[in-house]
Amino acid sequence: MALLQIAEPGQAAAPHQHKLAAGIDLGTTNSLVATVRSAQAETLPDEQGRHLLPSVVHYFADGVDVGYTAREQATRDPLNTIASAKRLIGRAVSDIKSLGKGLPYEFVKTDSRVPRIHTMAGDVSPIEVSAEILKVLARRAEDTLGGELSGVVITVPAYFDDAQRQATKDAARLAGLHVFRLLNEPTAAAVAYGLDRGADGIHAIFDLGGGTFDISILRLNKGVFEVLSTGGDSALGGDDFDQVVAEWIMEQAGIADDADHKVLRQLMLDARKAKEALSDAKSVDLDIAVPGSGRWQGQLNREIFNTLVDPLIRNTISACRRALRDAGVDVEEVQDVVMVGGSTRMPRLREKVGEFFRQPPLVDIDPDRVVALGAAIQADVLAGNKPDNEILLLDVTPLSLGLETMGGLVEKVIPRNTTIPVARAQEFTTFKDGQTAMVVHVVQGEREMAEHCRSLARFELRGIPPMVAGAARIRVTFAVDADGLLDVEAEELSQGVKASVTVKPSYGLSDEEITNMLRASFEHAEEDLEERRLAEARVEGMRVVEALQAALASDGEKLLNPQERRQIETALQELTEAIATSDVDAIDAQAKHVEQVCEFYVERRMNSGIQQAMAGHNINEFE
Ligand code: AMP
Repeated sequence: MALLQIAEPGQAAAPHQHKLAAGIDLGTTNSLVATVRSAQAETLPDEQGRHLLPSVVHYFADGVDVGYTAREQATRDPLNTIASAKRLIGRAVSDIKSLGKGLPYEFVKTDSRVPRIHTMAGDVSPIEVSAEILKVLARRAEDTLGGELSGVVITVPAYFDDAQRQATKDAARLAGLHVFRLLNEPTAAAVAYGLDRGADGIHAIFDLGGGTFDISILRLNKGVFEVLSTGGDSALGGDDFDQVVAEWIMEQAGIADDADHKVLRQLMLDARKAKEALSDAKSVDLDIAVPGSGRWQGQLNREIFNTLVDPLIRNTISACRRALRDAGVDVEEVQDVVMVGGSTRMPRLREKVGEFFRQPPLVDIDPDRVVALGAAIQADVLAGNKPDNEILLLDVTPLSLGLETMGGLVEKVIPRNTTIPVARAQEFTTFKDGQTAMVVHVVQGEREMAEHCRSLARFELRGIPPMVAGAARIRVTFAVDADGLLDVEAEELSQGVKASVTVKPSYGLSDEEITNMLRASFEHAEEDLEERRLAEARVEGMRVVEALQAALASDGEKLLNPQERRQIETALQELTEAIATSDVDAIDAQAKHVEQVCEFYVERRMNSGIQQAMAGHNINEFE
């Protein structure tokens, strides 16, 4: 092994040969770096042979410490020891307020949207914390490989939004790394198993770590991976399994719920140890410290353990069912199930997952390393080391992307779960005669009204040549790149004036929020439909009002006597009043009434040879 490693740097020195590249699994609790050497992907250990690097950074007066030594400081110096930066990255201060409650850090009061944490070494953002972790991993790779990395692939959860992806890229840049691309964690796991080289079909990636659960449904189509859907629970993980075991022990040993913090902490550690041991053994002996009365000795066997954890496992299976439904595939269509995350070592979980998917899941690759290994394989390809092995890895948009149109309605341009990269264009028009500017409001979400969706960006397209309402053609293009970043461009087609925006919101959505937004869209479906009907009726009514007012201004004097004009204006007034109410039927009725009242006027306009004035207007506008 060692000899092989010594031979490796030589390859780096030759310019046309192997370019150095690495895959990085930047995890919430632990991170890993891997690379492809001698056609084999492997994770790289530190000098002491440890592959995992705890994702913890300890700041002190004149420097930083990352990894195990930093983690040891967590209890002694919690304010200066930052863990779980991944939960904070790409989030706004307002998001952190709810998230940060359980965190011991001192958040700096700031006007900026990016949160900053006060430490002994100065104020730091989650991006900077992540950059420290990336630096250590990159250095490990460069030291091992004996040369500079040409680029890296960093994995992120499939549900990471634009802001979280952008912030991760910023962290890499800060660490001096070239990012070939970000890669979704489930996709990386599929690549590690070489599923991209197999037959086309559907694959499920089941990822249960310490604190989160993710399920992703991928489709391999002509060598290309598509993420069909993602689901899971950001608050379900191995820790919950520890918790149920700890509760059982407390009951058996007669330990009160309100026991000392230290006692509970020790109990959680004992519970975890027992849980992990039960992955190999049929039963474990327990020897637990009981406050006041010495110790409790007992045994936990697999049968009891299984009954304790089955409800948690059932939750993961329900999420799998939902993800399949979202992806529109039947369970029989799933060809492989890939297991990722330390908690998938539990035999009961494997059994239940196997039962649900009707096949034994893939468990041959270490579930803690599989994501990093896949990232390394992808990095190797992107470095140009395997030009004939092109894998294009496609991900999906977690929520629909669209525009606000008249009446506060949302026009979805890219529906949720669309594979990326993707570009879609849609044409819009002006609402008023002579309108020269248009506000483009980009929103994300499933609801019908813009106010219920998340606002991503707002920009103006100016310089539209003045035309009658409805004549201008404005093409709005939405493009989401491979990393999930959105570009929106609006172009007026006759003159070619353009305006655009890259959506890099300084904070993002958590997967919980995505779930909540989706749930809300289902729950409000009926009332949304009502709202849409109302908004559409109003837009229609307004269009009639605008067009009629324009007509009256141009030839009302000439074609109508005062009484006729009053009659039309009264009808118009009634329609305007109806629009102000929320009564869809009244608006429709008044619009119809206007149409009847104006029939002779429309006819007169047509006949009076002033069709010219009507150019661009449509007779339907009066309907
Ligand atoms: P990860 O976040 O992927 O590193 O997963 C860590 C989680 O995996 C923790 O909750 C561990 O207790 C759990 N874990 C690690 N090894 C085992 C095992 N042999 N059996 C059950 N759970 C395990």
